[in-house]
Amino acid sequence: MPRYEFECATCGRTFEVTRPIAASGDPATCPDDGSPAQRLYSVGGVFLSSRKDDGRRSRTPADADARAEAAAKADARADAAGAPRAPGHEPA
Ligand SMILES: [Zn+2]
Repeated sequence: MPRYEFECATCGRTFEVTRPIAASGDPATCPDDGSPAQRLYSVGGVFLSSRKDDGRRSRTPADADARAEAAAKADARADAAGAPRAPGHEPA
């Protein structure tokens, strides 16, 4: 099981947590004071992310963006063709 390094937001202590990869994005708390800890990415580099990313299930933001972009293009094509919009896509 991989180890993940966290840094306490309150006292700055760093500690490691061993957990399954599937749980790598779960929050961790400082063993000293129980404060929320921020994931560090200096160890192992399981996912190549910046420290600003707190690791919460954000592995596929690009996919979500791509889907939103594709949906926007589909709407634009529907407009161009004069076709009715799909339910739920009415303009605000
Ligand atoms: Zn702490």
